[in-house]
Amino acid sequence: MSKNWKAATRLVHSGIQRSPFGETSEALYLTQGFVYDSAEAAEARFKGEDDGYIYSRYKNPTVAMFEERMCALEGAEAALATASGMGAVTMALMGQLKAGDHIVASRALFGSCRWVVEKLAPQYGIESTLVDGRDLSAWEDAVQPNTKVLFLESPTNPTLELVDIAAVAKIANGIGARLVVDNVFATPMQQKPLELGAHVVVYSATKHIDGQGRCLGGVVLSDHDFINETLWDFFRHTGPSLSPFNAWVLLKGLETLPLRVAQQTANAGRIADYLVEAKSVIDVRYPGLASFPQAELARKQMSGGSTMVAFTFEGEAAIAKKRAFAFENALEIISISNNLGDAKSLVTHPATTTHKNLSEEDRDALGIGPGLVRLSLGLEDSGDLIADIEQALIVATKI
Ligand SMILES: *Cc1c(COP(=O)(O)O)cnc(C)c1O
Repeated sequence: MSKNWKAATRLVHSGIQRSPFGETSEALYLTQGFVYDSAEAAEARFKGEDDGYIYSRYKNPTVAMFEERMCALEGAEAALATASGMGAVTMALMGQLKAGDHIVASRALFGSCRWVVEKLAPQYGIESTLVDGRDLSAWEDAVQPNTKVLFLESPTNPTLELVDIAAVAKIANGIGARLVVDNVFATPMQQKPLELGAHVVVYSATKHIDGQGRCLGGVVLSDHDFINETLWDFFRHTGPSLSPFNAWVLLKGLETLPLRVAQQTANAGRIADYLVEAKSVIDVRYPGLASFPQAELARKQMSGGSTMVAFTFEGEAAIAKKRAFAFENALEIISISNNLGDAKSLVTHPATTTHKNLSEEDRDALGIGPGLVRLSLGLEDSGDLIADIEQALIVATKI
């Protein structure tokens, strides 16, 4: 029956395993280990003769409920939940690669993802090539006979550029490689990478899935073979496991995910429309805008414009940065933070925070200038948010 359920229903009911007490809410199994009725039962479990629980580094009932609910949402066969989004990304990449392999990735990546591809992987003999993800011929030119993984984010952080997931999946299939998609910015509600042909999808559940600023978490979703064969030993022995407590919070987060993402997206759309008309800023970037340079691709692969908006203060570098800082400092509702996807609206100056470790040249290539500001829209009233932005723009433009 659950096969026909829509996402909103799955997010409330899928994966639930009630204890003999028949609790309404998902139970929190805050336990490290499990006991066996007999020595024989322990032996049988270790032999794999029954699929009961052994140790929470491998599997835990509350974590299993979260994994199953994510599978139901994503249309994936299997999942492994991790302690953070970076735990998920690192396992999804390093857990399938070995020395001599090659990875091609879009250069516009979340900072730590880029570090894993550019710095960590080469330390283990895995070569990497970064490309402009928008340019399909760049992906084609970069793949080699030993390319095993293509990796991308779409929309990208922080400039919200899109990569054509179906087209890059085709390139991966052509050479027998896997496409891994970090789907955080689109959220599981607005983009389905597996349906578009990707082989693996990863999330930082820290973002919209919790959505209320409490717990770190992550998840890797794919087919049975990739999760239970390719990644399983890496996961079990290196221990990036999600805490049962965090899994429980994230399960409750999933129940309200569609409502929150819808409201946050509506707020982002209204603020993008407002900013387009504002005279003091340029280059308003929002995938839901008709004027967005990749609007057609946005319509093709996303069912919403995302909860993020980016824009730029004009002026020569020092002035643009001063304006961006004055804007951030003048905001009263929107808080300064590097985080995103929260119920609280947040503002980031990427050049001096999330992307400060890149060289200026790399930042320029990604369009991350001193005047660029990134907004993550929350659940507040959109009129209040616009009024807050309006008064902060007045302060910023006095500079
Ligand atoms: C936040 C984020 C990550 C890392 O997730 P953590 O939970 O902070 O480890 C990876 N990719 C993207 C796109 C992110 O936004």
